[in-house]
Amino acid sequence: MGSTLIIACTRCGGLFLAADGQKTRTCPYCSTRVDVRKAKQVASAKSAFEASEILRDIKSKKGFSRE
Ligand SMILES: [Zn+2]
Repeated sequence: MGSTLIIACTRCGGLFLAADGQKTRTCPYCSTRVDVRKAKQVASAKSAFEASEILRDIKSKKGFSRE
């Protein structure tokens, strides 16, 4: 079982989830195909649920709601 990563888009910096081991993810904000290994990993979690909780927490602190 891989973990779930929280990564930052290499283009717009938006945060979203990627499964550990996944090569690419399409950014939900700008539709850029992001190389998961090259992207900045903000955090990692043991499950997708935990990852979404962390992501929500980060967003609330940064005031990401305008994105
Ligand atoms: Zn993006």
